[in-house]
Amino acid sequence: MVNRFIKVKSLVCIENTITVELDFSRNLKRFFHQNSFYIRYGKDISRHNYSILVIPVVFCLDSISWTLGADLIVDSIDRDAFESSRIIRKLFNKRYPSNENNSVLRSEKIIETRSVDGNSGLLFSGGIDALHSLKTKINDISVLYNILGLRVCLDNLEYYKNWKLKLSKTAKKLDKDIEFIETNFFCVFNFALLNGLYKKHFDYVNWDEAIGQAIIPLGLCAPVAVDSISELLISSSFTESYKELRGADPVITDSLRFYGIQVKQIGYEYNRTEKILQILSWLKENEIIPEVCNTNHVLGREGNCGVCDKCARTSVTLLLEDENLEILDYPLMNRI
Ligand SMILES: [Zn+2]
Repeated sequence: MVNRFIKVKSLVCIENTITVELDFSRNLKRFFHQNSFYIRYGKDISRHNYSILVIPVVFCLDSISWTLGADLIVDSIDRDAFESSRIIRKLFNKRYPSNENNSVLRSEKIIETRSVDGNSGLLFSGGIDALHSLKTKINDISVLYNILGLRVCLDNLEYYKNWKLKLSKTAKKLDKDIEFIETNFFCVFNFALLNGLYKKHFDYVNWDEAIGQAIIPLGLCAPVAVDSISELLISSSFTESYKELRGADPVITDSLRFYGIQVKQIGYEYNRTEKILQILSWLKENEIIPEVCNTNHVLGREGNCGVCDKCARTSVTLLLEDENLEILDYPLMNRI
C-alpha cells in the first residue's frame, strides 16, 4: 500500500487546550469528518514543548494509521513514544498478517527521553476493573485520569457535569487527584467506516476491541502525566485465560512508553467475580458505587442499567455472596 499518509500539519497549545490540524492523502479523506480536533485538560499544559504535546495526537492516530497502511508524520517526538509506535506496528503485523504493511511513524527529530522516579497514575473509568486496580495499588497511585468524549457526545453538558462530580467525589474520598481529559477526536474520525472496511482482518471483532481501545486513552494522558508520574496503569478487562491478542492485551499495553513513563496493565490474573469479591467490603466501607456498564452512559444517562449481561453477571456474583444489590444502585427486582 503506497502513498497514504496522515500528517500533523500544525499543533497549537493555548493554556489547557491542544488544537491539531491534520493533512492527509486524498485517499484517506473519507475517514475524517473534519481535519482538526482538540484535546482539553484541566490545567495549563502550554509549558511543554512540541515533542510532548504531540504524544496524545500520535497515540490517537498511530494505530489508525497502521490499520490504514499510512505513514504518520510529525515534526518531532520523544524517543519512548517513537519506539512504542515501532513495536506495536510490529506486533499488529504479526497478529493480523492479512493487514500487514510497512507503514511507520515518521519524525524529523527524535528527542531523547529522560528517566523519572515518581508515583503511579491510573486510567480510571469508575468500573469494577478500575476500582479493583485502585484498591490493589492504593498506596502507589496518586492520580486518576478519566477521558471525556469517548462514549457520550460532549454536548450533553448535564451528563458530564454529574459524571465529573461523581468521579471527583470518589477521588476525594480516597485522597487522590483526578484529571479529566476532554477530546472531540472520537467525533472527528470515522470509526464506523474503519470498522466496516477492516473488520475482516481482526477475527471479526470490532476495530476498537482489536486495536484501539487502550492505546488512544493511554496516550491522551501524556501532557498531564509528564512531570507527575513514572508509571501509567491500565486495568485489565480480560484474564490470563483470554489468549487472543487484543488492543487491550498486556502484550500491547505494556509495550507502550512515553517520555519516561511506562504503561503497565494490572489485574490480568483475576476474573471479574474474583475482583468483585476482593473489593466488595472496601466499596461499602467507602460508599463507592461502581460503574458496572456503559448502557446508560451511551444513552446519556447515569448509573448502571441493571438489565445488561454485565449487570446480570455482577448481580449473580453478589447474590451468591448473599449480598443485596444496593452497592450497584439499582433495585434487586430489575434482575429477578
Ligand atoms: Zn448494565
